[in-house]
Amino acid sequence: MPSESDFSEADIAALLQQFVTYPEQVWYAIAAFLFIVGCFQWGSFVHSKFARRRHYESDEETATANDIQYKFSLRRIPLAIINFYRVVTFRWTLEIGQSYTLNMAEVFVTVAYIALLLIYAFINTTTVEGQKLDVIFWSNRIAMLASSQFPIVTALGTKNNLVSFVTGISYDRLNYIHRMMARTCFMLLCVHTVGEIISSSYYPFKLIKASKGTGIIALAAFFLLIIVSLRPVRTRAYEIFFYVHFLSVFIFLVAAYFHTKSAYGSYWIWPSFVFWALDRVIRVVRLVVFNHSYFGFKSGTGTMDAATELLSEDLVRLRLHRPPHFHWFPGQTAYLIMPSVSTLPFEAHPFTIASFDSSLLSTAKPEGQSGSGENHGTQVLGSSAPFWKELVFLVNVHGGFTKKLKEVAAKKETVKVFVDGPYGPSPDLGSYDTCVLVAGGSGVSYTLPVFLNIIERVRKGKSSCKRVVFIWSIRGAECVEWIEETLIKAVQLAPLSLTVSIRIFNSGSPSTSQSMEVNSSISNITEKNGIPEPVVTRRGSLTSSMLFSLRGVKMESGRADLDALLKGEVSMTSGRMSVSVCGSQGIARTVRHALRFPVSGPSSILNGGPSVTLYVESFGYA
Ligand SMILES: Cc1cc2nc3c(=O)[nH]c(=O)nc-3n(C[C@H](O)[C@H](O)[C@H](O)COP(=O)(O)OP(=O)(O)OC[C@H]3O[C@@H](n4cnc5c(N)ncnc54)[C@H](O)[C@@H]3O)c2cc1C
Repeated sequence: MPSESDFSEADIAALLQQFVTYPEQVWYAIAAFLFIVGCFQWGSFVHSKFARRRHYESDEETATANDIQYKFSLRRIPLAIINFYRVVTFRWTLEIGQSYTLNMAEVFVTVAYIALLLIYAFINTTTVEGQKLDVIFWSNRIAMLASSQFPIVTALGTKNNLVSFVTGISYDRLNYIHRMMARTCFMLLCVHTVGEIISSSYYPFKLIKASKGTGIIALAAFFLLIIVSLRPVRTRAYEIFFYVHFLSVFIFLVAAYFHTKSAYGSYWIWPSFVFWALDRVIRVVRLVVFNHSYFGFKSGTGTMDAATELLSEDLVRLRLHRPPHFHWFPGQTAYLIMPSVSTLPFEAHPFTIASFDSSLLSTAKPEGQSGSGENHGTQVLGSSAPFWKELVFLVNVHGGFTKKLKEVAAKKETVKVFVDGPYGPSPDLGSYDTCVLVAGGSGVSYTLPVFLNIIERVRKGKSSCKRVVFIWSIRGAECVEWIEETLIKAVQLAPLSLTVSIRIFNSGSPSTSQSMEVNSSISNITEKNGIPEPVVTRRGSLTSSMLFSLRGVKMESGRADLDALLKGEVSMTSGRMSVSVCGSQGIARTVRHALRFPVSGPSSILNGGPSVTLYVESFGYA
């Protein structure tokens, strides 16, 4: 059996040095990668700002709308490369079964990350005597490498984190990376455990001493964490996942701290507590500032409760007010905490803010009308708009919290809501010639404010958009009611320079479609198993018929052929086109497929086809 003296001083010195320097080198590699991603993201942001300015200048010179130039040009090579990159990294996907979809960027990051850590774990593991892959070299080093990743894994799991700030990528998009890194670290710690078992039977001495008990507790807690974070558990029992995650992370980090303390590794552990606490402090401060009347501040007492309405069997609308200093951008999300509805008092559920943070709809006059025309617009902002802004949420009913909310909404009750947010990115569509918005069902929460924003920015001369296409797939004509008044007002407010096309596809039964023509107006509540159930009937078709009489607004029966629609739009556009999508996994997948090659391929771009940017919001499911 080898003893400590079998290792030369050179071996031990190298081993201890690698123990410290390799994790640092991994950090430099990750930091450099994040810096490069940040440069691309912020560079693209700055580029779109400049592109918009250049656009105005060239618009003033040519003054022609959507001047399509299908001419081959080698000057478009950089654009062709950018589009090639977008298709390969974000629209090519690896689909595992029906519910797992990874884009190539995620696949690349996963493979590169695992490779980086494994390389650092196993390089230079040959002793001076020539013994290859000696366990004494890699066993503790691999644990140290895993520990060094905990600060970033923790940061990526929080809503307010530096990685999001540096890269400009929102916290929810980084969530995949958070899970992937955590699983990789778990794998490394399993290898470390195997290494320790081998070395303890092989080597009677220890170069690095750490308590076995704390190591076992840490690994057990981590194992539990990995199990509850598997998608089937998260999907079926989100709250169990949430609380077990919280508890197991805490146990894991405390045990890991003491386990690594004697092995000089605890300095990689305690920053996790700091990042987590910082996120909580920011969230609590926001919560107090934006929900002040619930925290004993007198102004606005009682005015923050939400009004609930059951718009259909599976959709609840919430409307609530927040103070003027609460601002949000189209497409952003807020976490809603409703202690009187949820099972546990601190349950927070994310929903996209379906209203628009602007006075456009409540103050602006329809295009071409200077007088006091009839106001058909939804008062998206209430009459007290300057003081209290209305937030609107469209909530799909599932099996947990949202099911309980449905019961409240069926009785039209008001509820106390704490709003944590806003979070997430907002697509900057100011520099696109054509904007296509695709939504399925409640995904309209995302596309509606984006649509209104485009109209407002074109009105103010802050966007070069010439054509906006609003595609919405619904499961019954009654869904139109959710937003029809807003759509009418939006079309009326659209400036003449902007072509608006609204295409609504009703995949529900034809009878529901026909009921659009029925002029009845009752919404009853009946009781089924003691639970109030709505009888959904049409409120009246006055506004609907008005909506569909507007130019560019159409309702069709059946599923939208998104592939054909998008290809049609691409063929009608030159310059820059954006496609924003929010709906089921199926919708997101179809849109990604439609915008691959040859539509966004190099030959299309070199021949004058549009440069296409795709934004996908998936409500965490795609
Ligand atoms: C960024 C984002 C924006 C969203 N916007 C909307 C929206 O505008 N309208 C809408 O109807 N839905 C939206 N969702 C989805 C919505 O958050 C969930 O449907 C809701 O939380 C389900 O609650 P439940 O207890 O009834 O769900 P369950 O019946 O328990 O589960 C249904 C699904 O919701 C997921 N889920 C449950 N709780 C949460 C939670 N706290 N956080 C994240 N996912 C959860 C589950 O994993 C499962 O996949 C959004 C989700 C995300 C991530």
